[in-house]
Amino acid sequence: MPEEGWKSGIKVLHVAPEIAPFMKVGGLADVVSSLPRAQRELGIDARILVPAFPGLLEKAETDGYRITRVRRDIHVSINWRVYTAKLWKIRYGHVPIYAMDNRDIFDNPDIYPEELDSRTFLPFCLLSLGAYGIAGALAWTPHIMHLHDWATALVPIAGKWHPFYGKEGPSYRTVFTIHNIAHQGIIKDNRILDGLGMSDSFRTERLEFYGSVNLMKGAIVASDAVTTVSPTYAEEIAEEPFGMGLEGVIRKEEHKISGILNGLDTSYWNPSEDCLLPYRYGLEDMSGKAKCRALLLKEAGIENGEGPLMVMVTRLYPQKGIELVVEAAEYIIEKGMNLFILGSGASDLEHVLSKKAALRRGKMTFVRGYDEKLAHLAYAGGDIFLMPSLFEPCGLSQLIALRYGTVPVVRDTGGLADTVKDADADRGGYGFTFSEFSPHSMLSAIGRAAAAFKDRERWKRLVVRGMEKDFSWNSSAPEYGSIYSRALNI
Ligand code: ADP
Repeated sequence: MPEEGWKSGIKVLHVAPEIAPFMKVGGLADVVSSLPRAQRELGIDARILVPAFPGLLEKAETDGYRITRVRRDIHVSINWRVYTAKLWKIRYGHVPIYAMDNRDIFDNPDIYPEELDSRTFLPFCLLSLGAYGIAGALAWTPHIMHLHDWATALVPIAGKWHPFYGKEGPSYRTVFTIHNIAHQGIIKDNRILDGLGMSDSFRTERLEFYGSVNLMKGAIVASDAVTTVSPTYAEEIAEEPFGMGLEGVIRKEEHKISGILNGLDTSYWNPSEDCLLPYRYGLEDMSGKAKCRALLLKEAGIENGEGPLMVMVTRLYPQKGIELVVEAAEYIIEKGMNLFILGSGASDLEHVLSKKAALRRGKMTFVRGYDEKLAHLAYAGGDIFLMPSLFEPCGLSQLIALRYGTVPVVRDTGGLADTVKDADADRGGYGFTFSEFSPHSMLSAIGRAAAAFKDRERWKRLVVRGMEKDFSWNSSAPEYGSIYSRALNI
């Protein structure tokens, strides 16, 4: 219930390229589905606009959500052509999700293109400019447009600098959340701006970045407020190498940037009610976890399950520290531990993991792909959750692991540093951390975790401590409320 009256009545439209559980690439999708729900509990009228990429509406329908067509379509003019999108309303609990539907434009089942050009940028133009049509289509006008990453950067950019949308722009306040500054939305050919009627924004103080168009840079400059997904990451991106070239822009706009830790959807990620788990468990009875572990070992074909079972559920990109795991795998196995990795992404990393797992069959298993159900089993069945990221804006996987009683071993960076306390360094700790990005440093943290695993009483205490932590939206959702009210001068 709304405790703070000033927040109630604020209307927010979240615009995002992906949303769990309908269409998900990574943690952004989880945040976009759970933050608005938490905000509604605070009395904020939060709604969501997403593109209906192939499969989204079908998934919503098979999952049994009510879908209705909004009577008015959305029309957007891009490159001297008018594009029309139907608008569907999905009733997702109490949160209305609006899905923009134009099968010819939203045609990429992977959501994000390999490279941005005039054709592959089109879906994100339609989504972002279409957001300005929401008020007309729904007879509902948001006070705040809350944008998520480069894919929706054109919303604040157009609202500030577009000859037409610039007139609409001042009616809205814009909040831009950086989920990962590594993906900036760079378009090499600046002629893309001609078709948008924004050629004059190709300047250093707006969108220009080393001769290309940089959407994230533009959004940081144009938005009223900028947030990122953990306090440590907010500090890190003001410096090299974390800022990935945008550190100067971040420092210049520092006055409007804040780091707010992501929350977890604790009703979905809940081992005692998880319908994707074959056995459920909670603090009062952990026997289900042992059963999940046995099943995971069996499914993974791991022969001897005595040593700690180390799991990873991850996108496979250099960001996630996969190279460290590949280098350290032999040693981990030699020390009597087992490895289970579920992931997909860069083909070279997929290949090297497949090769390694084939050589070490029975001790190391790699499942290539994106598999929601198996991910749940891995979180539940593992003893240790490994996340040796090179950088990590927030990271949800370590939070899920903690909730499922799987002790995290993480590199001390970004949101991992904000959420995992080392059990050897801190009396209240419930994980193991390391600083240097090297196999040696990671192995020393793994070694400490393995030693703790042998001490059954200590291990139980660590598991319980982790499971008792509150990583829900309880404290972070109100922080967004404060950002909104500041942007609105309330
Ligand atoms: P990122 O957003 O960088 O991928 P996060 O830790 O914030 O990292 O979020 C990752 C989310 O995606 C988690 O919910 C995780 O369980 C899920 N995930 C990642 N890879 C897979 C996979 N191969 N199969 C199922 N879920 C996955």
